[in-house]
Amino acid sequence: MLEKMFREKRCACTFAVMNYAELASRLTQNDVTLVAVSKTQPPARLMELYHAGQRIFGENRVQEMLEKRVALPDDIQWHLIGHLQTNKVKAVAPFVRMIHSVDSLHLLEEIDKQAQKAGRVIDCLLQFHIAQEETKFGLSQSEALELLRSTAFQQMQHIRICGVMGMASFSDDLTLVRSEFKTLKNIFDRLKNDFFKDAPYFKDISMGMSGDWEIAVEEGSTMVRIGSLLFQ
Ligand SMILES: *Cc1c(COP(=O)(O)O)cnc(C)c1O
Repeated sequence: MLEKMFREKRCACTFAVMNYAELASRLTQNDVTLVAVSKTQPPARLMELYHAGQRIFGENRVQEMLEKRVALPDDIQWHLIGHLQTNKVKAVAPFVRMIHSVDSLHLLEEIDKQAQKAGRVIDCLLQFHIAQEETKFGLSQSEALELLRSTAFQQMQHIRICGVMGMASFSDDLTLVRSEFKTLKNIFDRLKNDFFKDAPYFKDISMGMSGDWEIAVEEGSTMVRIGSLLFQ
């Protein structure tokens, strides 16, 4: 019995690593960065991908990220991809590599403040609401314009806006999903042109998850956030 469990577990691990290698090589060919979304996975599963070469891991909850960080190698780059409360910024500011989920000026001000205290500049993405679902977080285009035009934003010296992030509708309607990705790409192009023309670091479009990453890459994604496909 134990042996059977062991064998099945090993098979699953090998499968995950095979899946990883295949996905990673397809993304590399397209110059797309893979954020391995490791939420709910134990550190041992992250280590399998680490040994296979993965260094960027995404978590959506601060507490979980903090716990894994102390259990895992120092050269992992931690990306925060989930909704972030201002009172949690302080805990991640000393190490987080990128925050994908900036959806208010208030949050950005807190990130800037905590980054300054930590003596860092933190890379951030503006999260846009592109899906039809009501529940997903994110800015509207007009909210983003207001943020970027504000004096408060222009005075920040400890954050860097590196691009945009969005989640498409959770839907089988691939035409809808594709059109939402196109919307995000258009937002990116507009912001690049209007606010970040001379900023080479403004280059990322974080879109695409396990179920829709291929469409996202076709529509211009530079960074995909993939969990279940890797950790099945
Ligand atoms: C969980 C999560 C993902 C990954 O989703 P999968 O479908 O498991 O690939 C991507 N982005 C965010 C914000 C998530 O919370």
